Amino acid sequence: MQNLFCKSLSNAVSFRVPSDKNILTFKPCCLYHKDIPFHPTYFKKTKIEFDKATDFLPDCKKCDLQERANGSSLRIVSNKVIPDNISNQIYKIELSIDTTCNAACIQCDATQSSLWRKEEAGLRKIIHIQPESQIDEKILQIKQSIDLDKVKIFHFWGGEPLLTDTHLKILKDIKDPSSVQLTYITNTSIFPKKEIFDLWDKFAKVRIGLSIDGINDRFHYIRYPLSWEKAKRNLNLFKTESPTNIDYHINYCATPLNVYYTDELETWLDKNFSEVNGKKVNLIYIRGEGQLDIAKTPDKLREVVYKKLSENHSVSNILKEVPVLDYMSMLGHLGKWDYHRNLNWRKTFHEISSFFE
Ligand code: SF4
Repeated sequence: MQNLFCKSLSNAVSFRVPSDKNILTFKPCCLYHKDIPFHPTYFKKTKIEFDKATDFLPDCKKCDLQERANGSSLRIVSNKVIPDNISNQIYKIELSIDTTCNAACIQCDATQSSLWRKEEAGLRKIIHIQPESQIDEKILQIKQSIDLDKVKIFHFWGGEPLLTDTHLKILKDIKDPSSVQLTYITNTSIFPKKEIFDLWDKFAKVRIGLSIDGINDRFHYIRYPLSWEKAKRNLNLFKTESPTNIDYHINYCATPLNVYYTDELETWLDKNFSEVNGKKVNLIYIRGEGQLDIAKTPDKLREVVYKKLSENHSVSNILKEVPVLDYMSMLGHLGKWDYHRNLNWRKTFHEISSFFE
């Protein structure tokens, strides 16, 4: 049975292996809060419950907020993208089964990035922290539960998905790439090799989401230790070297640190990366959570942001929808990592420093 309130509930699955724990989990989409441990029988049983839902489930809060703040949401997009009358056949899968990453972004954590785990361990060497055999075993479990020939949208998250060959292990078995769409979320630090572009060229469409939440030293601070100069070089290469079946969008994660500087990024993008191959590059605003939850933005800073960006800007709308939370734990997090990374958030974001006294 297809779920007509949200087709993600009946026709999509998001697989994730949090951290380097050897546990495959599933949920209907990336926004759904709970990661459910995977077992083939329980997976089938839970899917039947998802098929029957008639409203946002308790774990769909982020999507509900997106809809109220932006007038759009993953639910609305899924309902447009996933066709009608396909019963509960899986049409879209998201894969976040390899958290190997070359960044330890300040709003991220050790469950999503191997470099964060190294940082936590006081080391700084990037290795493929999940053994290949572990990833292969998870891919096999997925293939045994889902008919991949019927899946028409594959969405690769990391870690950093362009850093490893995990995505290629799935792509190599796709029989008719011309009917399949791919999506990647990348941190902009890697320009794909020619072989990858040649492979992507066979697919109906490739969507690349670039995670950029600031420019210059603010990019470096947030997406530590990545360099803005390298990201800019890659953006230029994406503009000049991309096959025409690739679309780009920017994923902007709004946090207390960068909400004030949203217009700075928007201006830069308008001037330098507003379209590729004649196609507009959209900017998607996402709510920062965890240590840098956007709810930790103080009231006085919110008022300044409303004036600077306008009252009905998407970031203002997100700020208006979230409660005001205490920011002291965030300051502890920033202070601890500034010490280890030889950074100083009060200098990098000096215009907002006084709002956090
Ligand atoms: S979070 Fe949104 S897209 Fe995901 S299952 Fe819930 S309503 Fe659907």
